[in-house]
Amino acid sequence: MSKKLVIGHLYPDLLNLYGDRGNIQCMVKRLEWRGMEAEVKEFRLEDTIDFSGLDIVLMGGGSDREQMIVCSKLKEIQKDFKEYVEDNGVVLAVCGGYQLLGNYYQTSDGIITGLELVDLYTEQKPGRLIGNIIIKSDLFDMPIVGFENHGGRTVIGSNQPLGKVLFGSGNDGESGYEGVRYKNVIGTYIHGPLLPKNPMLCDWLLARALERKYGDSAEMTPLEDREEKEANAYICGRFLKKE
Ligand code: GLN
Repeated sequence: MSKKLVIGHLYPDLLNLYGDRGNIQCMVKRLEWRGMEAEVKEFRLEDTIDFSGLDIVLMGGGSDREQMIVCSKLKEIQKDFKEYVEDNGVVLAVCGGYQLLGNYYQTSDGIITGLELVDLYTEQKPGRLIGNIIIKSDLFDMPIVGFENHGGRTVIGSNQPLGKVLFGSGNDGESGYEGVRYKNVIGTYIHGPLLPKNPMLCDWLLARALERKYGDSAEMTPLEDREEKEANAYICGRFLKKE
């Protein structure tokens, strides 16, 4: 029997900026290429979520208005979602979804209460942080590349960041850090979509989910990823100053 991962996509009708759905397609394909299976479950606001049946949870980016709508539902799922995270459940949360992992997102139109899954908070400041971004994470040799567009500035306190900013703004445009890593949760401002541009990060998430479910990730043999590596090198060459 081939191994199978169940991917839960939270609120794809609301949190869907900049092709974040591509992250799901990337996970499905990279499992299939290794002879494994993937099932994607999309959840709308009115749906009940059984976190015990999920192996990976994805939340994409959204506008402040859409985040405000989603926020009304978060209280109901908080307890189960928290248990899933503490039990090493795998989560990828991008931009608006990343902000919702935290305690709150303060906007000029009011406060959006978060899931309190990771101890961080976000405040809106004048001007948006928009553009290409490159970061270096301890997890990978290859830099993570993508695109960011956010008004919120995220403070992660003593949590571990996903990486250090080599080009772009990151969490707040000041600290030099981007994203957050807590247990098997990754929060990041990087769209792109993130995973097709950064296959090593996709594989990291898949490996964590396979280990949690089956006790090993033996099938996660390297793929060639020639185009992905070339694209990454091109972006780094374009934006990073040569010494
Ligand atoms: N609405 C949030 C902000 O502007 C997140 C935006 C996004 O998901 N791209 O900060």
